[in-house]
Amino acid sequence: MSELIDSTLDQASTPANTVAKVNLLGLSRQKMTAFFLSIGEKKFRAEQVLKWIHHHRVDDFDQMTNVSKALRERLKATAEIRGPEVVSSHFSTDGTCKWVVRVASGSCVETVFIPENGRGTLCVSSQAGCSLDCSFCSTGKQGFNSDLTVAEIIGQVWIAARHFGNVPAKMDRAITNVVMMGMGEPLMNFDNVVDAMDLMMDDLGYGLSKRRVTLSTSGVVPALRKLSEVSNVSLAVSLHAPNNELRNQLVPINRKYPLDQLLDAIHYYMNRLTDTKRVVTIEYTLLSGVNDQPEHAQQLAALLQDVPCKINLIPFNPFPHSGYERPSNNAVRRFQDSLQLAGFNVTVRKTRGDDIDAACGQLVGSVMDKTRRSERYARIAARQV
Ligand code: SAH
Ligand code: SF4
Repeated sequence: MSELIDSTLDQASTPANTVAKVNLLGLSRQKMTAFFLSIGEKKFRAEQVLKWIHHHRVDDFDQMTNVSKALRERLKATAEIRGPEVVSSHFSTDGTCKWVVRVASGSCVETVFIPENGRGTLCVSSQAGCSLDCSFCSTGKQGFNSDLTVAEIIGQVWIAARHFGNVPAKMDRAITNVVMMGMGEPLMNFDNVVDAMDLMMDDLGYGLSKRRVTLSTSGVVPALRKLSEVSNVSLAVSLHAPNNELRNQLVPINRKYPLDQLLDAIHYYMNRLTDTKRVVTIEYTLLSGVNDQPEHAQQLAALLQDVPCKINLIPFNPFPHSGYERPSNNAVRRFQDSLQLAGFNVTVRKTRGDDIDAACGQLVGSVMDKTRRSERYARIAARQV
């Protein structure tokens, strides 16, 4: 039990001489059950409370009308339901929504909702900043700040779901898919991400199918292998280069886990999924003159010939001092055509929410950069001009 309580404490908001409350928002079904058993209550209380939190999205124990008053009072004294603080909300004219939320470390992270073709995809962050330092990613340029807790990860889904529950019916929208493609590398915050994804897929949580929850990784190979032991979510891999020489520059984790190891781990993950029709999404950010040439498309096709995949091309989303440029629409189309001719299913990610800076790799807005790395980076870039 102490492990459970330790993992849900939020010291930042706890005055020195009070006992911290357990944040029930961050408890998976298993941990919620353990919590109620530990206070001498029956297992079904866990189910009731999970439904109140994730189906009805309440944060007030008094609204839990099928829970006895005595238990509600007890819960009020020892527990709480607390999502991360919403610092600001932004609503684009194209329907995209963005929430900037503050996490316990004091940093801010972003959550983006993208409605498209009858689907509503929520892009969720797993860390404040990121330690992996991909050369074209603004989150990477901030350095690592903190891992998000389970409550902070699932809290992003809870906040968005609460918003849609509260808007008038005609504007009502649903979260049909969740992608772990916001800020951070989800496999570097393994346990919390797995618990949060379990809640996304749990019937007592958000009830999403495993096909509709996607984890995106830049290739932390041992953690990807471990994931296959505990989860069967959909997989996206950020490849961005078809050979080790180029990938070492763009995605530095490649120096530790090069392409052959990454491809083996992808096969291992896909082979362990019981339904044979599933494919891995290969993400490939196109950087003008760097990885978007015809020879790169040919090498990529050769590299992926045995991989059950679809390819998602992401034209680079610029940010200040990145040193990279987005390729022209023609260059993107040529790259797509070449892969399609080789027999691949290739999509190009459209930029959404332009007016609210909600695009991939631009999720940096008001994050407090405690390491001041982006400032240092900007100074270095300025000297190089
Ligand atoms: N850390 C994970 C998930 C978050 S990033 C990962 O790397 O997969 C989500 C996707 O956005 C990744 O494919 C990432 O490489 C891509 N991305 C990052 N910065 C970008 C930028 N400036 N333009 C376009 N795509 C970017
Ligand atoms: Fe981290 Fe992903 Fe950005 Fe790389 S692309 S720095 S892994 S968030």
